[in-house]
Amino acid sequence: MGYKPTAKHITLKGAINMVVLKTAYKYRAYPSKEQKETLNRQMFLSKDLYNLLLEKSKEYYKETGKTLTEYRMNVWITQIKKEKPEFAELHSQVLQNVSKRVSDAYRHFFRRCKEKKQGKNVKVGFPRYKKFVSSLTYPQTNGFKIEKKNAELSKIGSINFVNHRGIEGTIKTLTIKKTKSQEWYITIAVERKDKPFASNGKGKVGMDLGITQYVALSDNTIRQNVKITKHQRNHARVLQQDISRKEKGSHNRNKAAIRFAGYSEHIAKIRQDCLHKLSHNLVHSYSFIAYEDLEITNMVKNHRYARSINECSWGNFTQMLQYKAESAGCAAIKVNPQYTTMTCSNCGNVQKISISQRAFVCEKCGMRKDRDINSSVNIRDRALNVQSSNFDSYAVKATEGHSGSQACGDDVRPSAREAVAEEAGTIRVAS
Ligand SMILES: [Zn+2]
Repeated sequence: MGYKPTAKHITLKGAINMVVLKTAYKYRAYPSKEQKETLNRQMFLSKDLYNLLLEKSKEYYKETGKTLTEYRMNVWITQIKKEKPEFAELHSQVLQNVSKRVSDAYRHFFRRCKEKKQGKNVKVGFPRYKKFVSSLTYPQTNGFKIEKKNAELSKIGSINFVNHRGIEGTIKTLTIKKTKSQEWYITIAVERKDKPFASNGKGKVGMDLGITQYVALSDNTIRQNVKITKHQRNHARVLQQDISRKEKGSHNRNKAAIRFAGYSEHIAKIRQDCLHKLSHNLVHSYSFIAYEDLEITNMVKNHRYARSINECSWGNFTQMLQYKAESAGCAAIKVNPQYTTMTCSNCGNVQKISISQRAFVCEKCGMRKDRDINSSVNIRDRALNVQSSNFDSYAVKATEGHSGSQACGDDVRPSAREAVAEEAGTIRVAS
């Protein structure tokens, strides 16, 4: 289960606004051979339970037209434990987390249905039966205890992990996960109250996300992401072909699949690491970063560029930027990117520019600028304009208990025509 770090805004009566930061720490874990067997067995049972609950809720929906609540699922779990005592091998909270997963799957399904009705380009699929489950979550601290070098998990035992970084804040949940290459990780989710937002007083920039230049900033700087080399791509392909050469269901095929997964995860780690460094560096270098709302850009539809765009992982990057901004004293603002590439940042003239044109040359005032830099200047100005005129209404919206990019409900989502800066989990209003 992915854990999205967010900055959630709460207003305390008569006090300055406090911010509750939700963060997660991830550690490499080394369970013993016996513990791996227990974990695998428990994940297998989780999968069974997940599928049973899904079936149950489908039946319930047919009979009543309503979805099964998490509470009802949990009541049902206590009953099924009497019939199938094997489920008692798992900690009760871990079992209850399975019902949360099922109801989350339903929630996402209904949300997507709604989005589809509103005309968004989303795939809608009914929650499916799982072939495997690769993680277990302890949703409450009474099921686990974190020591210096090990985590004591109820019904599993004391698992060693590499504690490379201290935990700050109140521990909320623990998830243990197995990757496809058979590596184990422990993710600890925490919450902590943050100091009221104070700007770091540095410069304000706009940022354009691109393929040739990963990040172009309005102050004329370009930052790159690591690129996957031809050699790396070929090596991955060879490893993938290896799998299909081995006999189906054989031990060797399984081994080849693990090798391929290991290599893919290795490359993903390098890229992820680079994005972490880049986002960290940016939020500490600027007090204000405006960037394009990717949901509106929706460029992945263009097949020719689809692969490079997916490799760019912009969504991942902007999310990092968002949750790091808050504590670094930086405001990260999303804007509608429409026409930012086609508009002259000097005189406002709108003209056509083909995808191959690297420079923007204005037909009206003659300004010449790198196309991405030109667009980043427009993004910055748009965010600054909107911020001064709409600041109050949007800042208030953002404090209504939502968080991060979800801060913008449907009612505040910008229409294609108007330029609206969306709060990205970093602005606060003094009460
Ligand atoms: Zn111009």
